[in-house]
Amino acid sequence: MIEVLDIHVFYGDSYILQGISLNVKEGEIVCLLGRNGAGKTTTMKSIMGYNPPKRGTVRFDGRDVTQQPVYEKVRRGIGYVPEDRRIFPNLTVVENLQVARLPGHSDRTAWDIERIFSTFPILVKLREHKGGELSGGEQQILAISRTLMGNPQILLLDEPCEGLAPLIVENLGEIITSLKKEVPILMTEQNAHFALNISDRGYVIDKGRIRYEGTAADLVKNTEIQQRYLAV
Ligand code: ATP
Repeated sequence: MIEVLDIHVFYGDSYILQGISLNVKEGEIVCLLGRNGAGKTTTMKSIMGYNPPKRGTVRFDGRDVTQQPVYEKVRRGIGYVPEDRRIFPNLTVVENLQVARLPGHSDRTAWDIERIFSTFPILVKLREHKGGELSGGEQQILAISRTLMGNPQILLLDEPCEGLAPLIVENLGEIITSLKKEVPILMTEQNAHFALNISDRGYVIDKGRIRYEGTAADLVKNTEIQQRYLAV
């Protein structure tokens, strides 16, 4: 579904991503794990086109989309939930969902507000609340829902657990797992325990390079990699 091949990314003169390759297939949850500053968000932003790679390729659904602008990638079906969630604080939950609507892709069931409410019942009672009044966990669910309203073919989640209480994180894990049958997911996380619990495969990034890749089950067992790169 998405394939990143040897991308090299700079911020000014700083050489941040030094040849990242990864892929996500239909039906998978794949995580990109790493410490603060390892390059997770930069990888997501490069895939989306906010800071396109200087070298390397991003392929989506078989096509080279490396240099396509963000709006084109969204239109083609790459859904992105950024780390800071970026919901509209002054719009209600329903309005936040309505403004995000994009036409569906013929091979998937289209998302609409009713489907969002039946998938995430917690949003029903909040429907007339302003985005800015919601708790962190509720905002994260709204941010994911809003991206689903764009009918993505793949979902990129940047550190979905950040700043959330443990009980909420558990609930979010169930929500993300339930979405896997609808749409493949690439998720970055510092919280390896959370991510490996719900992922099929994982990559470990450190200083802009992939240091390990394997199944989630293999990564859970690999305490050496965890201690060296993940601070768990
Ligand atoms: P975090 O958990 O903090 O989000 P991360 O793994 O997502 O960490 P990135 O945000 O991708 O890490 O940052 C990777 C490196 O790029 C860091 O050294 C960071 O200081 C640097 N960096 C990030 N954004 C910029 C920018 N706009 N300009 C210059 N350097 C940046």
